[in-house]
Amino acid sequence: MDIVVIGAGLSGLTAAATLREAGGSVRLVEADTHIGGRIRALRDPASKRAFADLGPTWVWPKYQPVAARWLESLGMATFEQFNEGDAVIIGYGPVPLRQPMPGQDGMVRIVGGPSAVIDALANIIGDANIRTSALATGVFEDGPKRMVVHLSSGEVITAQKVIVSVPLRVVATTMQIPWAPQNLVDAMRGTPTWMSTHAKAIALYERPFWRDAGLSGRVASRIGPLVEVHDHTGANNTPAAIFGFVGWSPEKRRKDPEGLRQAILDQLSDCFGKAARQPLELVVQDWAMNPRIVTDLDISQPAVHPDIALPILRQPHLDGRVRFAVSEVSDLSPGLIEGALASGERAALELLATSR
Ligand SMILES: Cc1cc2nc3c(=O)[nH]c(=O)nc-3n(C[C@H](O)[C@H](O)[C@H](O)COP(=O)(O)OP(=O)(O)OC[C@H]3O[C@@H](n4cnc5c(N)ncnc54)[C@H](O)[C@@H]3O)c2cc1C
Repeated sequence: MDIVVIGAGLSGLTAAATLREAGGSVRLVEADTHIGGRIRALRDPASKRAFADLGPTWVWPKYQPVAARWLESLGMATFEQFNEGDAVIIGYGPVPLRQPMPGQDGMVRIVGGPSAVIDALANIIGDANIRTSALATGVFEDGPKRMVVHLSSGEVITAQKVIVSVPLRVVATTMQIPWAPQNLVDAMRGTPTWMSTHAKAIALYERPFWRDAGLSGRVASRIGPLVEVHDHTGANNTPAAIFGFVGWSPEKRRKDPEGLRQAILDQLSDCFGKAARQPLELVVQDWAMNPRIVTDLDISQPAVHPDIALPILRQPHLDGRVRFAVSEVSDLSPGLIEGALASGERAALELLATSR
């Protein structure tokens, strides 16, 4: 059986790795220059070691059986999110408050970050089976039994089965799928891509100096520009880092990136002291600028956590020749890492079960 998986985010990689482990012949095509999708690390330019997470950070293995199982099978260790000391709370009273803020039960980080999971899955699949800078423009029927995937280069790839692991609104607005009934396309358009409109700021420091002052590194702010901030120091306390979610709209971020950087440094300095104004590096990863993840529809609507998607998105199409597997499709933790692992694995296992 030969299978093409479109999209090398966590879902597509999980599907491809599951198929490879079962002996399937898989080709994974990814539009971007790198794999990982919404999972991306800020890396040390010299050693390539992952310094910080530019996409997701947390998993909840205590409550997420699929993530717990995959982390164990890939040999990934986890560590607690640092949360000792006081949080700084801004905009909830006339002056900033300093008080402990409870952690989130079961929330942990992966040693090496989620990008370590991406690397491990890519290893199972094998470099020869993964193509980057390969933008799929359409998925078509090739007679009654096969499928054909068109790439923007003009190349066509034929396969028995196709797994589409691309955010659903991106599929509906950028890919040709002429066989898809209107209710399927409507279901795709109606499924927001989780966190696709967000931006994340990472500040790296020599040491986690805020901890000396009894601060947890956590900030909750109604004023921003960072609305939620956390200690992001790596396992073994290195490198020292803070990350925050940016509260400015995508439009405001796009118009004034330098103003945003200055406002972030002002805020970090107000919360953690003058040393915070001088990070070794400040990186803003703006996911709303990535047209392979976000659509205008996502940007025009308030960000809401996805509901369990309509069943039609989990069903096979064209007699089982096409399946969708992206985090938002999952009926387990849609939008999250758990959802991506679950949707990729499920699509692959169902495909294997019906192909025997
Ligand atoms: C800032 C941020 C913070 C987050 N925090 C958390 C967290 O703490 N915990 C958590 O569980 N989840 C979190 N998430 C969500 C998590 O990142 C996603 O659930 C998960 O990474 C989705 O993986 P995916 O493979 O389903 O989709 P994606 O990662 O979106 O992968 C889709 C892939 O398809 C590719 N693609 C698109 N179009 C084409 C095309 N035409 N041809 C070929 N390839 C194409 C894209 O380039 C991309 O690589 C966060 C997300 C963001 C952005």
